[in-house]
Amino acid sequence: MSEKVARSEELFRHAVELMPGGVNSPVRAFRAVGLTPRFIARGEGAYLYDVDGNRYLDYVLSWGPLIAGHAHPHVVRAVREVLERGTSFGAPTEEEVLLAEEIVRRVPSVEMVRMVNSGTEATMSAVRLARAATGRRRIVKFVGCYHGHADPFLVQAGSGVATLSLPDSPGVPGETAGLTLTAPFNDLAAVEELFRRFGEEIAAVIVEPVAGNMGVVPPVPGFLEGLRRLTREAGALLIFDEVMTGFRVHAASAQGLYGVEPDLTTMGKVIGGGLPVGAYGGRRELLELVAPAGPVYQAGTLSGNPLAMAAGRATLELLDAEAYAYLDRLSARLAEAYREVFARHGVPICVQRVGSMLTPFLAECPVRNFEDARRQDLALFRHLFREMLAEGIYLPASAFEAHFLSLAHTEDDVERTREALERALPRALAQ
Ligand code: PMP
Repeated sequence: MSEKVARSEELFRHAVELMPGGVNSPVRAFRAVGLTPRFIARGEGAYLYDVDGNRYLDYVLSWGPLIAGHAHPHVVRAVREVLERGTSFGAPTEEEVLLAEEIVRRVPSVEMVRMVNSGTEATMSAVRLARAATGRRRIVKFVGCYHGHADPFLVQAGSGVATLSLPDSPGVPGETAGLTLTAPFNDLAAVEELFRRFGEEIAAVIVEPVAGNMGVVPPVPGFLEGLRRLTREAGALLIFDEVMTGFRVHAASAQGLYGVEPDLTTMGKVIGGGLPVGAYGGRRELLELVAPAGPVYQAGTLSGNPLAMAAGRATLELLDAEAYAYLDRLSARLAEAYREVFARHGVPICVQRVGSMLTPFLAECPVRNFEDARRQDLALFRHLFREMLAEGIYLPASAFEAHFLSLAHTEDDVERTREALERALPRALAQ
């Protein structure tokens, strides 16, 4: 298959004159893979259609939210119904109550929740709340984890920061960055050491319970439990950033899968069903510190937007036990396809998977932290990405991101992906 790209190229030339790098979020620019990004005209189920008429099987799914696939009829219907009644009121609506109720029902540690508009807002607000609740200033994050782009998190961050090999961001005051302590993911001893040195000053440990922004790295046994114990002993809060894992890896999110309860949870992606949503929640006495119930200020003109609430709730309605079992089966097959094709060509690969998120690291197993993830063959990644795109398979344009599956993907789709890999890998190796 050879793609036409004339219209995407034309739009991109125009876009770079108008927007930084031609995009509104860095990884979209395809810099790490040296291509022109495809401008998308529409999505349907597991497929994307670009402005040149190419069709791609989509393993990005808007970077995670679209667990039901593109334009799922149940989600479209729910949004349309609300849309016709108006888009925003700056006043409470029933839709907010219904989504909050659904989240609280499914995640036992979340007794109350506050809706915001993005994952960044959720993590930023959760840290403010943790600092207010503890009266402390420092936070601990893990190298290669990404928690959005608020100042405290742009310290050894993953996702686009890692993809573009950017240093910690200019514009973040040293005083702010200096309050963020870091440790390698999965390294409990390093966290213990931080608590020994700074225990009294640490407000919270924030962690992706399954790291997804350095590629998928599951927690080693005992890691999350250890964080729970250390934070509790030191009077600090434990924040699970479940923006990516929330309702993706398990019906009760990663905390349900691993049986560890954080004090605060941040969410986004799936709970917005493809519309802009974030949320933070947790124990009642903590959330009651948030304005207007309490003194910790946080607000939003479009927070709890009815369209987003309806899309999120319609998406959650599709996620029953059978749906998770299906996603798990399908992603296991995709993982197996990668392993099988690479083994046949004698090329090292380490496919790590939790539920319907997975990363085929082009490296020897195991990948336990960001340092391991960086040992990948990035040149091979770039060649393979291009060859797979030419085969009509749309993978994340970064070796440090997850593939996602949706309810709209089928076994035939995965089989098509295996066949495409079979053709693409030898071509990628020959470059
Ligand atoms: N936390 C995690 C774990 C994420 O994966 C992301 C986004 N990829 C964010 C926070 C930030 O969310 P948003 O892009 O909606 O601001």
